[in-house]
Amino acid sequence: MRRREFFAIPAALPAAAQAILEQTEELEIVSSHEHLLSEQERYALRPDVLTLLSHYAADDLRSAGLAGEPKSWAEIEPWWRHVRGAGYGQAVRIALRDIYGVDDLNAKTVPVLNGRIAAENRPGLYERVLKKMARIRYAVLDDYWRGEPVRPDPRYFVLARKLDWFCSARQAADVRRMEEATGISIHGAADLRRAMERRLEQSLAAGLVAIKTTLAYSRPLEFAAVEEREAQQDFDLLMKAPQPEPPRRLSDHMFHHLLSLASEHRLPVQVHTGTLAGNRGLIDHTRPGLLNPLFLRYPRVTFDLFHTGWPWTGEVTALAKMFPNVTADFCWMWVLSPVGARRALDEMLETVPANKILGFGGDYRYVELTYAHARMARAGIAEVLAGKVARGWCTRAEAVEIAKLLLAENAARVFPQPGGAGDQARRVQ
Ligand SMILES: [Zn+2]
Repeated sequence: MRRREFFAIPAALPAAAQAILEQTEELEIVSSHEHLLSEQERYALRPDVLTLLSHYAADDLRSAGLAGEPKSWAEIEPWWRHVRGAGYGQAVRIALRDIYGVDDLNAKTVPVLNGRIAAENRPGLYERVLKKMARIRYAVLDDYWRGEPVRPDPRYFVLARKLDWFCSARQAADVRRMEEATGISIHGAADLRRAMERRLEQSLAAGLVAIKTTLAYSRPLEFAAVEEREAQQDFDLLMKAPQPEPPRRLSDHMFHHLLSLASEHRLPVQVHTGTLAGNRGLIDHTRPGLLNPLFLRYPRVTFDLFHTGWPWTGEVTALAKMFPNVTADFCWMWVLSPVGARRALDEMLETVPANKILGFGGDYRYVELTYAHARMARAGIAEVLAGKVARGWCTRAEAVEIAKLLLAENAARVFPQPGGAGDQARRVQ
């Protein structure tokens, strides 16, 4: 089959891994995390090669030296050779090769690719790429760019939403926005909690299966238990005058309230930990170990630690090993650091119960890149498992069973489809 002949970037897999890969290629995936546009949104775009480079690969291009947003191939070309070998570049190349039949980017192939990408941008693309090529049963969708919670297309998605903005008020205008969105008039911390509850109800009505938080982008993942009186003082402060940062005590208080709601509704919480997307930020804010007190305080909440906390994968490994309510999630990880992902999985498989490891989330906006990332994840998982088989840690049949857990079953258990068997089991617990 043509697709397999030139499968691996950058090199062919060892034979034992290839055999396991062929079996894992048949497996369905439940993706723990995506930002994929709806089909309607996607077909309304006029995508080209720059569109596919804009999600993550552009971060590496800027890190290499490109100034600002890439606007033409001529601007990108001097930097592309430095980033094409890193994970984001690998994903772009796999997508272009497998979906559009072009092996690499250069001045000659860019116009060809632009024509093919435009021609394929029509109904049928999602079915072909997500279902037939990537074999994704469904994905947990974080559609952060939408204001209102919207029920996603059930053929492809279940819904996760952020309520971080209720933990991030820094001025009266932020509070007004919450009032408009929820219909609750807000005069203090107690009203703010009620507005958060209303927003959660609105999201549940749209099919919410998980709460997502990316507060690590804007503050440390250390949340003190703050009494209402102190939270109210912060509220009064920000209503008087805009604050440079969201006042911390109110933010802490609201995040604890969010976790109480997650506990009450038996909703898992997906937490961004580890390195940040983009080209700036404070990485020490993102350390997974900072969350430790919350795992003790909210034992009914499943904390799904994103990106395996890379570069602090050791912390996530230790936490997922200790706590029944902590899982390690490889979303974004196979493109963030393909080697780091293999190392982390190699260690985790001999440290953490296998039902605690969620092996894939594409974390992309465009289906082509989710497909490419899924391919990299399957290859990485197969390679790690082949090493385990070679050392006698497991049989090939056991390796395939583990791959099933990592690629689908663990995510399907933590994020069941509404109305599905897993969802009913969760609700009667
Ligand atoms: Zn994401």
